[in-house]
Amino acid sequence: MKALTWHGKSDIRCESVPDPKIENGRDAIIKVTACAICGSDLHIFDGVIPGMEHGDIVGHETMGEVVEVGSDNKALKVGDRVVVPFTIACGECFFCKRGHFSGCERSNPSRKKAAKLWGNSPAGLFGYSHLLGGFSGGQAEYMRVPYADVGPIKVPDSLTDEQVLFLSDIFPTGYMAAEFCDIKPGDTIAVWGCGPVGQMAIKSAFLLGAERVIAIDTVPERKTLAETSGALVLDFRDEDIYDRIMDLTAGRGADACIDAVGTEPDTMSGFDAIIDRVKVATFMGTDRPHVLRQAIHCCRNFGTVSIVGVYGGFVDKIPMGSAINRGLTFRMAQTPVQHYLPILLERIERGDIDPSFVITHRAGLEDGPELYKTFRDKKDGCIKVVLKP
Ligand code: NAD
Ligand code: ZN
Ligand code: ZN
Repeated sequence: MKALTWHGKSDIRCESVPDPKIENGRDAIIKVTACAICGSDLHIFDGVIPGMEHGDIVGHETMGEVVEVGSDNKALKVGDRVVVPFTIACGECFFCKRGHFSGCERSNPSRKKAAKLWGNSPAGLFGYSHLLGGFSGGQAEYMRVPYADVGPIKVPDSLTDEQVLFLSDIFPTGYMAAEFCDIKPGDTIAVWGCGPVGQMAIKSAFLLGAERVIAIDTVPERKTLAETSGALVLDFRDEDIYDRIMDLTAGRGADACIDAVGTEPDTMSGFDAIIDRVKVATFMGTDRPHVLRQAIHCCRNFGTVSIVGVYGGFVDKIPMGSAINRGLTFRMAQTPVQHYLPILLERIERGDIDPSFVITHRAGLEDGPELYKTFRDKKDGCIKVVLKP
């Protein structure tokens, strides 16, 4: 089959690789009908995620048709149309039973190695590092789905692939980011990043009752789309984000701040911070504010900082004193996608949201390598790429 494979920094190729096979009774093989490129794939593309190996099949936002099921899998049958969560979970362990599927303690076979780096191990993920199990990803013609009797959700024929594909990751992620904010009537939510995740967070904040959403980005098409969703959009090149958010909130700050940006190659650790607030918020050598610091500074006392942006390295010089003195709550997670699937599928069916609004580019797998660049460089108005093998 054809698949997109990783060969180092900025090197994704479309290659012929062996077809996947059932390896365990609970597995399923799906024929991929649609898959997407995620901001998290860009961290791999930028070479900041440890544990990648040459030839790894990438991709973790995938849906398709079941073409084979393992002998112990009673939940799926050949012909089912499913969306596959990017987090792999057994459904039975200590964490899965509590709904913390992205903390599954069985799905990551590399958990001992992962614990050395992170102190403990998260769940296995598709297409994302041998520290997370080295599972082949879904930017491919076929994909093996472990624990396929737990993760994949069947979707009705009345909805198109594009309407449901983002249940695999970015819709639950944006929704969780907003849910973490514990939104009350009248609340102002600030969202850093108007990429696909930020866009989902903006829509979700309104769905969950936010009165006002302030969104921050610099990319024209992304700013326009956020405005279309009702956000007030700020650009750090035009004004000081902190000053403007304070002006807009009677000097208090936003009730909750969402980081939907995460690691950018130039925000890795090792830079010196200076005491001055503006300079502390800015990375040496770039004029781009450090999102997490700015989100902390811009959050009102006893507000919430909700982090869904992924950090690949160690992020230091975080103003913990500010957070402690002012009673901030930090919430963050790799999304336990399985937990959100039923409620979010229902929201799509009800017409509360059509997540396909972020799609700007559609192509075949062979165009994937070029579209990784287009998406990373935000060229051609690119917001979200969907590949149809
Ligand atoms: P993306 O790269 O397309 O979007 C990031 C956006 O942030 C871009 O539009 C960029 O212009 C903007 N940005 C960069 N620096 C900024 C700054 N200083 N202030 C404001 N905006 C800034 O990526 P995406 O697909 O939207 O994903 C966003 C993040 O969410 C990534 O880190 C990704 O890894 C992460 N993510 C996390 C989960 C999870 O489970 N927690 C799931 C999916 C994605
Ligand atoms: Zn993703
Ligand atoms: Zn589990």
